[in-house]
Amino acid sequence: MDDEEFRRRGKEMIDYIADYLLHISDRRVTPEVEPGYLRPMLPKNAPEKSEKWENIMQDVEQAIMPGITHWQHPRFHAYFPAGNSYPSILGEMLSSGLGIVGFSWAASPACTELETIMLDWIGRMIDLPVAFLPFDPNHDYEESDNESSSQTDEDDDINEDHLLNSVKNDDEQKQAEHIGGGVILGSASECILVAMLAARTKKITSKRLTDPLIEDGQILARLVCYTSKLAHSCVEKAGLIAMVRVRQLAVDEHFSLRGKTLEECIRADKEKGLIPFLVSGTLGTTSCCSYDNLKEIGEICQREQLWFHVDGAYAGSAFICEEFRYIMKGLEYADSFNTNPNKWLLMNFDCSCFWVRDKFALINAMSVDPLYLQHKHAQQAVDYRHWGVALSRRFRSLKLWFTIRSYGIEGLRHYIREHCRLAKVFELLISTDCRFDIIGDVTLGLVCFRLKGSNKLSQKLLLSLNDSGRIHMVPSMVNDLYIIRFAVCAKHATDDDMHVAFHIIQEHADSVIAEHRAQRN
Ligand code: PLP
Repeated sequence: MDDEEFRRRGKEMIDYIADYLLHISDRRVTPEVEPGYLRPMLPKNAPEKSEKWENIMQDVEQAIMPGITHWQHPRFHAYFPAGNSYPSILGEMLSSGLGIVGFSWAASPACTELETIMLDWIGRMIDLPVAFLPFDPNHDYEESDNESSSQTDEDDDINEDHLLNSVKNDDEQKQAEHIGGGVILGSASECILVAMLAARTKKITSKRLTDPLIEDGQILARLVCYTSKLAHSCVEKAGLIAMVRVRQLAVDEHFSLRGKTLEECIRADKEKGLIPFLVSGTLGTTSCCSYDNLKEIGEICQREQLWFHVDGAYAGSAFICEEFRYIMKGLEYADSFNTNPNKWLLMNFDCSCFWVRDKFALINAMSVDPLYLQHKHAQQAVDYRHWGVALSRRFRSLKLWFTIRSYGIEGLRHYIREHCRLAKVFELLISTDCRFDIIGDVTLGLVCFRLKGSNKLSQKLLLSLNDSGRIHMVPSMVNDLYIIRFAVCAKHATDDDMHVAFHIIQEHADSVIAEHRAQRN
């Protein structure tokens, strides 16, 4: 493909994507293919000779599209939203076009610097605790208030120069103490793994200070991480990779992990000689969008010197709206936090934002420094290769920059608020049909419901709905109840979409209940 053909094909591709998204509702939500469907449709070996572009695109329609689950479809209500927007797609396109690999500042300074700035923008958009953000000389830090109020009368005698100097030194001191920061990683799973690895290194280092003869392996074998039964399975997976125990604790009647449960488990583990090192809490569980009690958990983590990570993969985006910030109460106790703009902030996958209170704790766990990656600005610049698992990194902040600027925070807030309003519309519809129960509180864009009666009945209902290809949802299990999760996902979801979904669900409920009754008689 030469330059001219690239221009032509590129424009055609934009048209193809725009048409796909415009007419997406003409398609089934889920494909009707069986595992292995694609192999017989494609040649066994890669082509020796170049193929015509038209033929490749023809195969997209004939072979690929039949196997696509249409995540942007108005009847797609599974999981959580898969972010998508035109500015984000174009940002991705530019990132691919530039073809850079931003593992260090020197590898492409704009890639690193825009990433840091975007993390600061989003951090402020969602009102993260200041400890996660860079030092801001204009911010009224509470600590500096305390310090100034503790001054004595003698201070009045200090000459102006001295005063200016001490303010400067004070700022420098604060700046030095301010060691938080953020990075974009590929997934929430990666953020949680990285938090776990940082917490693990920190605990091992501190244990070795008090017991220099102990070996790392002996400490590792005793480490314990705590999370709730409703935390995403990636916490358990991170434990597998990091080779540490993960305790999945019971939740209360609001599906929330409480301090008392955590405290009892920590006490029992310490009695057994184990070493608690991390709690991974959740704001907006995948199962039912419930929230752990961060304040209770945070106080325990502080007392027990445990790393406290908070996973807000979905719910975090809602904090751009002030009315949802009550949910983040207690986040000031956290050592690290993640949220995925690629779920609910109109960014394409992948884009997981991860902030830490102490970037050195992270860097200590992740740094290796071969000669070929060193550069002369390493002391003053950020090298994101030390902030995660991968070395090579894409220019993901471009899509954040494009999308935030194109929508404005106001536009993004409108999108979030619409999804939350529509979830309430759907909740109301479900509650008008006495055959259903709503499970949990509807606070954001997720509604969980079930048919009254046995788990089997709701299971049959969901199977029937998904098999129909008219709508797509996934189940979850909370406190032994099988529930159906209805997430508002489509970017331009409407009231009408909620009504259509409700009627499809009612129709299938009619036949599932009728069949159930017939089998009983
Ligand atoms: N945490 C929560 C609360 C989630 O809902 C999800 C996925 O839906 C994850 C973590 C895992 O996200 P990822 O696919 O980015 O690893």
